[in-house]
Amino acid sequence: MNFFKTLLIMGGMPALLCSADNFKQAICTRLAVIGGGVAGYSAGIYGGNSGESTLVFVGPRPGGQLAIAGTVENMPGVVPQYGMSIIDRLEQQAESFGAKIVYEAVVSISIADEGPRFTLITSEGITYYADAIVIATGSRPRTLGIPGESEFWGKGVSTCAVCDCTLAQGKDVVIVGGGDSAIEEALQLASYAKSITLLLRSAEFRASPRMQEKIRNYNHISYRNDVEVEEILGDDTGMTGIKIFNKSTLAHEIIHAEGLFLAIGQIPETDFIKNLLACDKYGYITLLERQKTSVEGIFAAGDATDDRYRQAVVASGDGAKAALDAVAYLRGID
Ligand code: NDP
Repeated sequence: MNFFKTLLIMGGMPALLCSADNFKQAICTRLAVIGGGVAGYSAGIYGGNSGESTLVFVGPRPGGQLAIAGTVENMPGVVPQYGMSIIDRLEQQAESFGAKIVYEAVVSISIADEGPRFTLITSEGITYYADAIVIATGSRPRTLGIPGESEFWGKGVSTCAVCDCTLAQGKDVVIVGGGDSAIEEALQLASYAKSITLLLRSAEFRASPRMQEKIRNYNHISYRNDVEVEEILGDDTGMTGIKIFNKSTLAHEIIHAEGLFLAIGQIPETDFIKNLLACDKYGYITLLERQKTSVEGIFAAGDATDDRYRQAVVASGDGAKAALDAVAYLRGID
């Protein structure tokens, strides 16, 4: 058994016992925040500001959805800037309030009857103990699961126009999806690609009229509705085209395309806690009351709980609320 755990259990102390001394050893914390996006860092700010020892596990590549966003224009009170710039500021702010940032991903959580309530194991194989947890693991881009998708991943297929826009230079590309993200991807690619075709599976865009308006003046951006992508085609040189099913004519067609960008929504990053917490059928964490989950002492925030709003400002507010709820729980005033 781990030395620190032995020490803590032998002490025979009650469940909440991550002291300031233990925290100095960076092994035991009052509050563990899991997630390196807006929700996680916001929880870190509020946890740190409460004076409770707070570790924020942000993983090896923090940033969440903002790390791959272009310019964020709609965050209240924040001048338009790159998403990663907002993340950098949030990190500095969390640290300035006393939270410690850990660049490891938590891969499992277990619950003990005595000693610190929660044991967390990270991707580095390191064990941490916490008295309360905020889960803010966000979501990852959904994929289509069609033939050719994994074969041409990185060789034409991408979920991130910001990251891969130069690969679209002078090429005909398609974007799958008709939401705000798809429009953002199109705008990002507009100065690189020769042509951009948005492929909508429905009759209508899901994107807001304001976002749709933004692509109207680009002659090389067009869209097709009622189509489903069936297969991604290519050869040794990379992707060369796609096979689609036209739902209006019931015909199958081949379209020339050297790049395909997926913008078809998100999947919550909750696989590692699905056996522990109640989640809905899509994997979103169920909130019972405010930011409380089905397990006492575990709170949740942001896109891992939210299949509707998925906005940075909402995630930020959720993170603050979850940390405040966790601090109230730690102090026994909840
Ligand atoms: P959305 O859920 O809004 O849109 C997803 C799109 O992908 C829809 O067109 C949907 O089609 C389509 N889709 C889903 N699954 C499939 C599939 N298997 N095959 C083909 N198409 C599929 O997700 P977004 O990521 O665009 O936006 C998420 C949230 O973030 C929204 O609230 C949005 O407003 C917000 N956002 C805001 C931005 C801004 O304001 N600048 C920028 C980006 C996002 P269908 O309509 O048929 O379901």
